[in-house]
Amino acid sequence: MRDLANRPDLCCINTATLGFRISVEAAIDGLAARGIGGVSPWRRDLEGRRAAEVARRAADAGVRIDGYCRSSYLTHADPARRRAAHAENLRALDDAAELGAACYVLVVGGLAPGERDLGAARARARDGVADLLDAARARGVALALEPLHPVTTAGRSCLNTLAEALDWCDELDADGGNRLGVIVDAYHVWWDAALAAQIARACRARRVLGFHVSDWIDPPPDPVRGRGMMGDGAIDLRGIRRELEQGGFEGAVEVEIMSDAWDRRPVGEVLDACVRRVATVC
Ligand code: ZN
Repeated sequence: MRDLANRPDLCCINTATLGFRISVEAAIDGLAARGIGGVSPWRRDLEGRRAAEVARRAADAGVRIDGYCRSSYLTHADPARRRAAHAENLRALDDAAELGAACYVLVVGGLAPGERDLGAARARARDGVADLLDAARARGVALALEPLHPVTTAGRSCLNTLAEALDWCDELDADGGNRLGVIVDAYHVWWDAALAAQIARACRARRVLGFHVSDWIDPPPDPVRGRGMMGDGAIDLRGIRRELEQGGFEGAVEVEIMSDAWDRRPVGEVLDACVRRVATVC
């Protein structure tokens, strides 16, 4: 298992952690000043910018782009809305390619308004992933399925476990092209009794495209915006990282904390806390 002490280069900051309070350029500068190795921007960070220029800025600062967040939902019941979301995702894939992002993160969406057929929503999500895969391959961008905690099933993600995400990988990317993989976000999957087995399975198939860390405050003040700083909650982050690294994972430890509480603190303080906690508790 890697020793993360004094290795901020193995850390990545997802810009949601900074609450979108500063520009992506300022974020890159703040990371570079601390030796943080990677950034995962969101699409909103690129509004009014050229992806190639952001990529150059990051490269000049010595900061990797470890991921690009995140997809428009794939599960709209209305075909016109589904087509519009697909077009948005194709444009985002163009940007991901220009960024040189290691992957484009897919959050698949939940039920349609008023819908109760979870199986149908999951089928639309899976079909939506299939529809994006060729475009992603053509652009050289990997698609990263991120299963989300079951509390988000209705509104954000009907894909909730690593097992189901890996089933989709096997079905849709069976030829071993490995343009489809998974994000292991500790906040979303830590409760799963099958976690260790599914991490091992993902590692064997070389499908792990990212490892996101934060912590689970009990109870979360908000299911989406109530994440804790690593070490402040119930998740055995080091244990999860051990499973990943025993399986061969060598990627970054990506801090992704959506938190109203942390958004009230100065950005520099948040970054310093992230570096310290990744080094000591992750
Ligand atoms: Zn995540």
